[in-house]
Amino acid sequence: MTKHAFLLAAFCTSLAHGEAEAKPPQRQMLYSIFAPIMQDMGSCNLQKASVVSGPVEMKMTNNKQPGKQWWIRLGQSKFKVTIEDSANLKLETALANAERIPIAYRRALEVVSEDKKAGLAFYKTLGGAAAHGGQAYLNMIPLKGDRAASVIAHEAGHVLEQRARSAEKDILDRWAEAVKADNIDVSRYGNKANPEDQAEFARLYAYCIDSAVGKGMKGELKKLSPERFELWEHMLRESKALPISDSDAELKKRAVLSEKMKPKLAQVRATIKELATKG
Ligand SMILES: [Zn+2]
Repeated sequence: MTKHAFLLAAFCTSLAHGEAEAKPPQRQMLYSIFAPIMQDMGSCNLQKASVVSGPVEMKMTNNKQPGKQWWIRLGQSKFKVTIEDSANLKLETALANAERIPIAYRRALEVVSEDKKAGLAFYKTLGGAAAHGGQAYLNMIPLKGDRAASVIAHEAGHVLEQRARSAEKDILDRWAEAVKADNIDVSRYGNKANPEDQAEFARLYAYCIDSAVGKGMKGELKKLSPERFELWEHMLRESKALPISDSDAELKKRAVLSEKMKPKLAQVRATIKELATKG
């Protein structure tokens, strides 16, 4: 959060000085604009995960170390959770992480649970990384609940993009075109590579559709980055993450916006309005 707050402050300063020094205008960044709501993902989600079967003792895919695996149900989704023994992570904690992600993103957990894949897999360490995600795996280290959900949302972006790309080979080329057309950055990390821009957008979209923190933000995101928004929702449909089932949607509607989020939502709206008037 500190980092995001700083980025926003730096951005506003550069706007203020921009005209006087006649520097080229700095590109806007979505993570700076939405920083106030990029926290507490899924804190008001109501659905609880339950164990279908397990644990089964097994060896972790990456390092062959001992671990345990369960089949889990969460709403209409069924997926695996695998935990390396040495990660010292309780199953309930792992499930609480999964409960925080948006309903549509549970599809990513289903994709990485197909066949012999290990599902949402927790390792003690991943060589310095927090997580890795693709169609074949979603590996992560134990993290605090809201951070874990945010990381899963990013990796789900990779998983669902790859699933959509299996059907539409040029989808990342189209993403690069969308980035150009939108003329706004997602995040510094996203600027490193086109697929990271896409996964970072997936993370931001997750916040913007969140039951607790995202009220009304989906529309704001669509206005600020319309081409990415449309292509990401297309990928969600292509990968069968959307539409979500009626029964899951019904429960989502009952989630209540927490009072402490209201000023933060207002703050994001004020920033967007200010940017619009500055043109
Ligand atoms: Zn990534």
